[in-house]
Amino acid sequence: MKKYDVVIVGGGIAGSVAARYLAKGGINVLFVESGITPRDKPCSAIQFMYFQKLIGKKIPKERLCTNPITRLYLERPNGESMKVPFKMLNFTRDVFDDWLNKIAVEEGAKFRDGVRCDGFKRTEKGYIVSLHPKHQETEKVETRYLIAADGLSSSIKKKIRPQDFQEKKPGITLNYYLKCENDGGLDPNALYQFWNLDFSNLMFAWTYKKNDLWVVGTGHDNDVKGHCDDLLKYVKNKFNFDGEIVKREGYGSKFCLKDPNHTYLGEGNLLFIGDAAGLVEMYRGLGMDAAALSARRVAKAIINAEKSNKTALELYEKSMRKIIKKMNKNAERSLIYIKTNEELLRYLKKNFLKMGMKTFFGNLLNNFRSAEKLKLLPA
Ligand SMILES: Cc1cc2nc3c(=O)[nH]c(=O)nc-3n(C[C@H](O)[C@H](O)[C@H](O)COP(=O)(O)OP(=O)(O)OC[C@H]3O[C@@H](n4cnc5c(N)ncnc54)[C@H](O)[C@@H]3O)c2cc1C
Repeated sequence: MKKYDVVIVGGGIAGSVAARYLAKGGINVLFVESGITPRDKPCSAIQFMYFQKLIGKKIPKERLCTNPITRLYLERPNGESMKVPFKMLNFTRDVFDDWLNKIAVEEGAKFRDGVRCDGFKRTEKGYIVSLHPKHQETEKVETRYLIAADGLSSSIKKKIRPQDFQEKKPGITLNYYLKCENDGGLDPNALYQFWNLDFSNLMFAWTYKKNDLWVVGTGHDNDVKGHCDDLLKYVKNKFNFDGEIVKREGYGSKFCLKDPNHTYLGEGNLLFIGDAAGLVEMYRGLGMDAAALSARRVAKAIINAEKSNKTALELYEKSMRKIIKKMNKNAERSLIYIKTNEELLRYLKKNFLKMGMKTFFGNLLNNFRSAEKLKLLPA
C-alpha cells in the first residue's frame, strides 16, 4: 500500500493551495480530484486583488478573463445607482483551478484527477483512504493526515457530521450565461450589483461579463429560478441588452448545509478546509479567499506540529479563531433578516457608505499586509 504524510481530497482552490504549501514544506502529499481536469465548477470567480497574495502567486494574464473588472456598479432597490472605480480579478474556474493544480505539482505535490475518494477508516497511525479512479478498481492508500477539501457538499463531512446537512432545497444560487451579439448598454469592465429583495435576499444579484459571455445571476433561499428570471428581464429591459442563454449553473446538491456559516475544522488528524469546513460566506458572497487562507493555515499547522507539542488541529484551530469569529458576526448581519425593500433601502442608506469606505480602505491596506495578516473583504 502506498504511504503519504498527507492525502487531500479535492483539487479545487483549498486542496491545491494546501498541497502546494505542504509540498513546499517538504511534506509527502497526494491530492486527488474526482473531476477530469480542467473541470468546471459553478462559481462567479470574482475576487479582490489580495487573493493573489493568499495563493502565493500572481495569476498569469492567460489564466484571467479577457475583460478585467475595473468598476463596480451599485444599484439600490429604488433604482438609484452609482459607478465607482474598483479593480477585481475575473477568471473562470476550469482555467484557473487547472493552473493551481499545476503549480502545486511543480512544487512537488502528487496529483491525480479523475479519482474519487469514496471512504476512509481511522487507524492507530492515521487513515486508510479508498480512492476510486474512473473505470478502475478502488485502491487503498495510507496517510498520517487526511484533509477534506471536497467542497460544500463534502462527502467526508456527511460521513462524520450528517447533522450539519439538511435535505435538498431547490438551490440557493443560479447563474445564466448568455451569448449576445453586442453588450447593449452594459459595460464589460463592470461588476453590476443589484441590491434588491425582488432579485436576491442573500446579498446582491449580479451581472458581469466573462470572456465572450454575459452572466446574470442571483442567490435566494426560496425560488432562485423565479428570482433569476425576474432579474434577467430587468437587466434586458434596463440595459437594452439581449441574448440567448447557453449555459445554466447553480448550487443545488443532494444536500445543502443547514447553516452556511457553520464551521467545523476537524477531529484527530482529519482536517477540513475551504467550503468543506463551512468557510463560504453568504454575507460576503465569497469563499475562494477563505478557502486559500484556510489551506495555507492548515499546511502551516501540519508542518509546525512536527516540531511542537501541540497537534496540527490545535494549531490550525488557533490560527482560524479570529476569522471564524468574524464570520459568525457577519452571519448575524445577513440580508436574510431584512423583509422588505423599504427596510433594505433604510439599511443601505445607513450602512452603504460605511461598508464602502471599510472595503475601500481595507483593500488599500491589504496591499501592505502580509498574506498572513490580510483582512478578508468586504469587511
Ligand atoms: C454560483 C456560485 C458563485 C460563486 N461566486 C464566487 C465568487 O465570485 N467569488 C468567491 O470568492 N467565491 C465564490 N463562490 C464560492 C466559491 O466557489 C467557493 O467558496 C470555493 O470554490 C471553495 O473552494 P474549495 O476548494 O473549498 O471547494 P471547491 O472549489 O468546491 O472544490 C472542491 C473539489 O473537490 C472535488 N471533490 C468533491 N468530492 C470529492 C471526492 N469525494 N473525491 C475527490 N474529489 C472530490 C470537487 O470536484 C471539487 O473540484 C461561489 C459559489 C457559487 C456556488
